[in-house]
Amino acid sequence: MYSVLKCIKCKKEYPLNELIYECKSCGALLDVQHDLEEVKEAISKELFDKRLGTRQFPYMSGVWRYRELILPVEEKMIISRPEGNTNLYKSKKAAEFVGSTLENLRLKHEGENPTGSFKDRGMTSGVTQANVLGAEIVACASTGNTSASMAAFAAVGNKKAIVFIPEGKIAYGKLSQALAYGGITLQIRGNFDDAMKLVKEVSLDLNLYLLNSVNPFRLEGQKSIIIELLHQLNWEVPDWLVCPGGNLGNSSAFGKALHELKELGFIDSLPRLAVIQAEGSAPLYLSYKTGFEKHVEVENPETIATAIKIGKPVNYTKAVRAIKWTNGLVEIVTEDEIMNAKAIVDGAGIGAEPASCATVAGIKKLIEAGIMDKKDKIAGILTGNILKDPDATVNYHMKKLDGYACTHANEPIVVDANREDVERVIKGILNA
Ligand SMILES: *Cc1c(COP(=O)(O)O)cnc(C)c1O
Repeated sequence: MYSVLKCIKCKKEYPLNELIYECKSCGALLDVQHDLEEVKEAISKELFDKRLGTRQFPYMSGVWRYRELILPVEEKMIISRPEGNTNLYKSKKAAEFVGSTLENLRLKHEGENPTGSFKDRGMTSGVTQANVLGAEIVACASTGNTSASMAAFAAVGNKKAIVFIPEGKIAYGKLSQALAYGGITLQIRGNFDDAMKLVKEVSLDLNLYLLNSVNPFRLEGQKSIIIELLHQLNWEVPDWLVCPGGNLGNSSAFGKALHELKELGFIDSLPRLAVIQAEGSAPLYLSYKTGFEKHVEVENPETIATAIKIGKPVNYTKAVRAIKWTNGLVEIVTEDEIMNAKAIVDGAGIGAEPASCATVAGIKKLIEAGIMDKKDKIAGILTGNILKDPDATVNYHMKKLDGYACTHANEPIVVDANREDVERVIKGILNA
């Protein structure tokens, strides 16, 4: 297979094994560009179906099952857990909450990946490429899930991991994973955007292989979310595809996946991509509102959904491209909308971290506004696991989130340690 790195702006090409993250002539982002004619010859829906039925390495991975679309690489170089193979849920409670129907709403749970977020799909391809390049140290800035995932894949692939995290602003589940998997963890006294800037600056000098989503090999792995989703839907294209937007790697990868699948004849139409941001952390939305005339950045992003608390997303240009390719849109949701949607997703027995639930809050808002229709087929991506941020969940249900309505709080009941009181309380509830 013949693939190159290609600048998305000036179209200059570089060999796949050149160690660069941006175009050397114009500074724009790079794509991993596969020769789609060649890929087309090599793959078919039947081939993917056949691989779905095997336990054979690496095809049992929901990423490497589609390897011709991900990365041309020798099998022995692949670092896989394996990842992917995440469930696609129907939920009456979630459907009713957003105003859709059981049949028309699907939620794909990327929190079911090995480390609990979709980042694993990008790490398997990113760390595999690190392997190909002979890199021994990998690095990233992270709001949490990238560091958790990178530390785990580095451990599996016998590499050192250095993670830059914003001090005191990351969810406990994520921090605990980075430490536990053995990542060298630098708590930067600043926010995510500061950490991102620093890791970019030092990685080239110190010979660290950078595994943020500015690395185009990560996005190739994340394309598999969409490939696997469409495979699960028998290649029937939904009307809408909805995801949260932070550093915008996912939105960018989704656009590229859809564009390529159409070129390859796997699908003949595209869903509209709706990217949902938190009101206090919405640089893409603010830019979208200017018709992308202005590239707006947010200095001090704020939201409880820490995974999308990013004011200067590195993949901005690729995300704009994805919105344009799919006739997509960007929407914002409030903090209360995110946390109340989370209570519904959690209460439906599915469960997800706050950023994931921006997806569901966004769908509700877009249906209420008449932009999405009850009759539309909607696929929403839940990006991270419910256990990632126990503080947000517990504080919501204990009504200890200052300034939040906590509308669906399910408070624990304190009972004295005797049988009469326990029976009285339970009967009181059952008879209510
Ligand atoms: C990383 C992450 C996001 C944001 O994805 P981007 O690709 O950075 O836009 C959203 N939700 C969760 C759970 C994440 O880990």
